[in-house]
Amino acid sequence: MNYSEIFQNQLTALRTEGRYRQFAELERPLGMYPRARWFQTPDAEPKEVVIWCSNDYLSMGHHPVVLTALHQAVDTGATGAGGTRNIAGTHHAHVQLEQTLALLHSKEAALLFTSGYSANQTALASLGLLLEDCVILSDDSNHNSMIEGIKRSGARKIIFKHNDLADLEQHLLHLPLAQPKIIAFESVYSMSGSIAPIPKITALARKYQALTYLDEVHAVGMYGALGGGVAQEMGVADEVDIIQGTLGKAFGLSGGYISASKEIVDCVRSFGNGFIFSTSLPPMIAAAAKASVTHLMGSSSERAQQREAVRRLRAALKQAGIPNLANDSHIVPVMVGDAFLAKAASDRLLTVHGIYVQPINYPTVARGTERLRFTPGPKHTQELIDQLVTALSEIWAHLKLPRL
Ligand code: PLP
Repeated sequence: MNYSEIFQNQLTALRTEGRYRQFAELERPLGMYPRARWFQTPDAEPKEVVIWCSNDYLSMGHHPVVLTALHQAVDTGATGAGGTRNIAGTHHAHVQLEQTLALLHSKEAALLFTSGYSANQTALASLGLLLEDCVILSDDSNHNSMIEGIKRSGARKIIFKHNDLADLEQHLLHLPLAQPKIIAFESVYSMSGSIAPIPKITALARKYQALTYLDEVHAVGMYGALGGGVAQEMGVADEVDIIQGTLGKAFGLSGGYISASKEIVDCVRSFGNGFIFSTSLPPMIAAAAKASVTHLMGSSSERAQQREAVRRLRAALKQAGIPNLANDSHIVPVMVGDAFLAKAASDRLLTVHGIYVQPINYPTVARGTERLRFTPGPKHTQELIDQLVTALSEIWAHLKLPRL
């Protein structure tokens, strides 16, 4: 058996389809963001580039409150956790952060995971398993972590059309009221930027006696008076049974969590394998995340500046005729519609214009909808926006891409 050839063939197939992933090797020196250093090869002198696709949406990764909390935590020994939560790995910083997250979402409790991915996978797997004969209704655009969690739960899965209330209700109608069900969906869909009609989904959930599980990964820190997410902004956070979030995007660090009633959190804590059998988050990260969450609960200026940058970028793209997907969120997807062209546009942005944005290809998005996904932040100035749109205009001409 030639294992090497089998693996090589798999990689060749990816290359042939234009889907082989190449990572940009970056360094984000303090005080420079969104400017960064790009190492074209590990040994080459780094080149200065502007990052336009980071999920550190509000630049909290370098915020002074985060840096201070991290330094203090390291200096007082809160480095690695030293164990799973059950075996010597529950630190004061974890418990404090969980209390803060519960407060952020006005829920009774919260539970930390090492990533948002693990939070979704573990929580959905546990809930679907614990509710006998459970059906999970899942939006067709849900993130892979939710899909994997649902798969692991062993529950029956029904996929409803993206943000389609009529389709969701059709499925609910055909299920017995007494059968346990969970509607699993996201608030902001990260690749299209579409936003879920949360109040209408929670109303359907009430009508058909379903639990709601809402992934707010791309919304926590960003929406709502406290940064609690879109459910908070729409005034329906208490209608959602389980809110899931990440500490790795707007909060600028890493880790994930769920926030829900005491019983639900206790069940996932007690039955969730991905929680039980994994070393807990480094307490220094938990301490810094608490500082970040607390800061964004009390400050809206980062959110306001970020929204202004989004507005300005959209206006500049419109003026230049660069096609971008309309939505009500902070995500600006510029549509290319071809894997090779999306890669070529991204390569040219980086090598010729010093602008870094990763091409988004299948399976992250459907074939034929390949795109460049821009995430303007508070530090993307008008000058950087103008520079980006000038570069995109040059590339649209160079690659003969259609304009609006
Ligand atoms: N949910 C959604 C919608 C995501 O886009 C992601 C990651 O990008 C995750 C969950 C996983 O979160 P994390 O990056 O914290 O693992």
